[in-house]
Amino acid sequence: MKQKLIQTQAKEIFTRTKLPGCDWVINQYVGCEHNCSYCYARFMARWKGYGDWGTWVEAKMNAPELVKNRLISGRVFMSSVSDAYQPIEKELKLTRRILENLDKKTNLSILTKSDLVLRDSEISIF
Ligand code: SF4
Repeated sequence: MKQKLIQTQAKEIFTRTKLPGCDWVINQYVGCEHNCSYCYARFMARWKGYGDWGTWVEAKMNAPELVKNRLISGRVFMSSVSDAYQPIEKELKLTRRILENLDKKTNLSILTKSDLVLRDSEISIF
């Protein structure tokens, strides 16, 4: 990984949102290796203070534990300020482990531009 990896522990992983079509967001990563020029999440760089967008990724290492035994009512959107399947996911597998631990009744949507999502297609939440 060329970008700086910042490993953190989160207190909570589900965040209420007013984004259209969803009630909660979950961001196990903040920041994105894809660094798309059109990215709407660049504002997070100013807020986080780790450097320019695309030069760092924060990984919430305990995210898979935080979703265990949580039944979330409403629509959950995964990765509003990152890509859940950006390259570092190959190594860390946070997204995969979250999907394994999430309650199977969760109404989940995932936004990604990576075909790494196919790796997890056998996980029964899909
Ligand atoms: S993949 Fe999504 S989150 Fe990542 S840089 Fe591109 S638009 Fe932003």
